[in-house]
Formats: sequence, structure tokens, C-alpha cells
Amino acid sequence: MNPLIVKAVVIAIMVLSYGFSLLVSLLNITHRRPGIDASLADFVDAEKYQRLLSYNNEKSRLALWEGLASFAVLLVFLLLDGPGRLDSALANLLPYQKLRAILFFGILALASGMASLPFSLYHDFSLEARYGFNTKTLGIYISDTIKGMILGALFGGGILYLLLLCIDVFGAQFWFIFAIILFVITLAVSSLYTTLILPLFNKLTPLEDGELKTAIQALAEKTSFPLSGIYVMNASKRSKKSNAFFSGLGRFKKIVLFDTLIEKHPVDEIVAVLAHEVGHYKKHHVPYSSLLSALSIFVTMAVFSLLVHSRSLSLAFGAADTQVHINLLAFFLLYEPLSLLMNIGTNIISRRFEYQADAYAGQAASAESASRALKRLFADNLSDLYPHPLYVFVNYSHPPLLARLGALKSKSQNKK
Ligand SMILES: [Zn+2]
Repeated sequence: MNPLIVKAVVIAIMVLSYGFSLLVSLLNITHRRPGIDASLADFVDAEKYQRLLSYNNEKSRLALWEGLASFAVLLVFLLLDGPGRLDSALANLLPYQKLRAILFFGILALASGMASLPFSLYHDFSLEARYGFNTKTLGIYISDTIKGMILGALFGGGILYLLLLCIDVFGAQFWFIFAIILFVITLAVSSLYTTLILPLFNKLTPLEDGELKTAIQALAEKTSFPLSGIYVMNASKRSKKSNAFFSGLGRFKKIVLFDTLIEKHPVDEIVAVLAHEVGHYKKHHVPYSSLLSALSIFVTMAVFSLLVHSRSLSLAFGAADTQVHINLLAFFLLYEPLSLLMNIGTNIISRRFEYQADAYAGQAASAESASRALKRLFADNLSDLYPHPLYVFVNYSHPPLLARLGALKSKSQNKK
């Protein structure tokens, strides 16, 4: 096929896909927000509600500008045959194809990081700082960025190397073998995350004996949750926002509480938050999510296998001949609409899981504590109370607050 037509098709697909996300974001920004809901009167007063509105508005606008800037840069890069030019420059330096491919993506990742740097700095040190969230110093920001880059280079470079190796060794079957390898890597990383990766960024200390620990242990016993440790994470060194999660596969579950959560919430609310996490475990959401991610990895790799050796795709991106890594880049761009659809699918399932976990928390703790915990979390984090329904449908992995409160209320009324 004529490379120019291929290029036009790739760019048309990118524009359509970006246009759709932009439209959804614009709908969300201009969506009319009614006054504060009566059920939140204890947590959000008129002044705080104004702050909440302007915080979410500023945040959405910043994301919009960042998206627009990165889309424009990418478009210019493609129109000027950037991928092909960069690759031929590298080919003169490095004769080894795999190393060249890793360097190629490394340079692109670095460039995209540089392009988003001003937005990220503005986000942390202006926006989040003005609303009283940011506690990060510039030193922490720099060390986080460097650590993130090293991890990205190790994992990204390693995975890319494995992919290229599979293509060489297994020929047409490469996608299947590589999909299995990639799935095993994601499982390993998610199960070792708290032990290996989190400590690079945060300090985890075992929760001290006391009322909270006793209450959490009582919950674990009541729900026969295989708890192997409760840790407090010093999240306050970066932000005042709060959260909690559990991690680990099989019989070794660790609960991690943000220190900010402990500081702001009474014991019964923290227990309700954890009961929600136990609910995810009891309803087998973790294996279901792993299954979903396996499915998405296999679909992705199967589609990639159709394009991996396409000569016209390489030519369309400015290369002189077929280059697997250039086709990989083209594939990422072409894949955007399909991955958008897959994300919508996973978000639908994820929101259902959240309702189920909430319902479980309502039973195992109490619906009243669970609702109060949610209200306080949303109010403290200034979360948007009235996102546009289409924006929620596309982007939200968790249902909005009022929907969750409504579901908790109707569940507890049904019980009575
Ligand atoms: Zn959840």
C-alpha cells in the first residue's frame, strides 16, 4: 500500500480518537454542577464547596492543555517523518538492532517526559500547593523522577528486549509466547510491588499496637481475611490526600494505610475502608482483574502480530525499510481507539466491583461508618461530586460519591 495513504489513515485514526477524548473532557468541564448535596452538609460547607469546584475545574483544564500540547507535538513529529529520521540517525551510531530499538524508545520516552515536565511541576507546586495538598519538596520531586526513570528504563528496556527476542526466536508464534511472558511479569510485579517497589519511594512501618490495630485484627478475624501485616506508609511526605490498599497474592495479604488516613479518620471509618478492601478479596475481584488483564494482553499482542512486519507501515513513518520497532510505535498510535474501548469495558467492570466491595463493607463494618468514611475521603480530597455521566462512563474506575452513597443506603434499607 502507498505509504502516504497509510500515514494519512494513521493520523486520521489518531485525530478521531483524540477528538473523542477531548469532547468527553470538554463536556465534563462545562457540565453544570448543582449546589452541594444535603447528605454532605456535615463535611462540605459553602466555602469548601466553592474550593472544590474551582479545584476540579483547574485540574481538568490543566489536563486538557497537557493533552493538547502532547498531541500537537506528536502530530508534528509524525508529519516530519520524525520516527524514520531518528532511527536512521541511531542506525549510524549503533549497528545492533535490539539496542537501537531500546535507545529509540528511550529517547522518545525522555522527550515525552521533558514535554510534560512543565505541566507536572505546575500541577504539584502550583495547583496542588494552592489547595493545600502538596507537601513534596523539590528534592523529593527530583529523586522521584530519577527513580521513576531508572525503573522505567529497566522494565521498559527489559520488556522491549524480550519482545524483540521472541520475534527473532519464535517467528509467527512470537505474540502468544510473549503474551504469556508479559502476563507473568505483570503478576510478579503486582504481587511484589509492596515488598520491592514501594519501599524505594516510601517508608512502611508496622502499625503500632493500640485501638486501631485491635479493631483491624478483629475485622480480619471476623471475615477470615488472611492478614500477614498492617503497615503505615508515610504518604504525607508528598501529599495530604489519603487512601488505603492491600496487596499480595495468595495467603500473604499486607494492608497499607496512608498516614494521612489515620490522621483524619476515626477508627470505625478506617475499619470500614478496610472492610471495603476485604470485600474485593472476598468477591474474588483480584483473580477476575488478572484474567481481564491477561485477556487484554493477548488481544493486544494478537493485533500487534498482524502489523509487526508491515513494510508500508515502516515506510509511512519515514523509515527506509521494515523496522519492527517503528511498527511497534505505529501500532501504539493505531491501537489507541481499541484500547479506549477496552478501558471503557474494564471501567464498567471495575465500577461494579466497587459497588460490591461497598456493599460488603456495609455488612462487615456498618453502612453508616462506610458512608461517613466515603464522605470524609471525598471532601478531604476535594473530589468532583458531579462529573458528567459520559465522562464517568469512559474514565472512572470508581463510581462517583453520590452514586456510592445511594447504593449503600438502599442496600442497608433492604436489609431492614
Ligand atoms: Zn475498591
